[in-house]
Amino acid sequence: MTNDTSDDARLRLAVQKSGRLADDSFDLLERCGLKVRRSRTELYARIEALPIDLLLVRDDDIPGLVASGASDLGIVGGNVFEEEQLSGEAKGAQRIAPLGFSRCRLCIAVRKGEGYEGPKDLAGLSIATSYPAITGRWLEENGSDARTVMMTGAVEIAPRLGIAEAICDIVSTGATLDANGLRVAETIFRSEALLIGSERPLSEAKKRTLDALTARIQGVMRSRDAKYVMMNAPRDAIDAIRDVLPGADAPTVIDLAGPGEMVALHVLSTDQVVWEHLEELKGLGASAILVLDVDKMLS
Ligand code: ATP
Ligand code: ZN
Repeated sequence: MTNDTSDDARLRLAVQKSGRLADDSFDLLERCGLKVRRSRTELYARIEALPIDLLLVRDDDIPGLVASGASDLGIVGGNVFEEEQLSGEAKGAQRIAPLGFSRCRLCIAVRKGEGYEGPKDLAGLSIATSYPAITGRWLEENGSDARTVMMTGAVEIAPRLGIAEAICDIVSTGATLDANGLRVAETIFRSEALLIGSERPLSEAKKRTLDALTARIQGVMRSRDAKYVMMNAPRDAIDAIRDVLPGADAPTVIDLAGPGEMVALHVLSTDQVVWEHLEELKGLGASAILVLDVDKMLS
């Protein structure tokens, strides 16, 4: 029997079991109303709120699982997805949506003592990396004959070990590079977590689940920075106030009791609202300004 509760109607989503993608992936699912009970030993987790089963795996396996159809969807770093697309391992998987977390950059780093002015300074070098395809593409695009040396971990010690003269790796603060006597020469790729999906057509039931999931994800992403701003303000300052608040929709204008030109304004702002914005609002005559977090948004 095939219905929404049978196993083949349940959408499979592959996520990293533990690591730098895992916490934010589970946080996103929770904010989508999808409670997950995670056990470190298990490979599967069932979600009750929507017909979704999670596959808890290593991040590097996610594009391949989706490409082969073993999983319908996956959450994976753009760096890993790009690398596996270029190397052919992710053929059959496609990008559905960027998710705005796990942002990082892939950088070429050289020894601190060595000057670096541009790609020509890499000529003849070997570059240790876990991302030979992305690095190779960049080298080719920049006309460099440097070659890559594949390493799966501890890439930053390669120059000290004499394995390579430079490296290409994920950089966040640069502290690890610094500790290994290296410095950033080039940023060659910017990454964030992606929702990816199989190119194979989904059943109607799975398609409905995917639509519900992507609508919730969009809602979470839109509400992440969104603020609901309330204030009293002179009626003739409404346009100027709208210009101050980033990503503001048309405000709701409410007349205040009594005579006078003051109104109450409610504005949904979809970008970050900072103190400078509030000070500008005050300068336009606004008072009693309140900024509230937005928990959920669906439009
Ligand atoms: P696994 O055991 O699943 O193979 P891993 O050790 O390969 O994990 P992690 O270090 O957990 O990988 O990183 C997973 C992904 O998180 C990276 O591919 C990248 O997209 C992202 N990431 C890595 N470092 C950072 C960082 N400093 N800040 C934000 N995101 C990062
Ligand atoms: Zn990994």
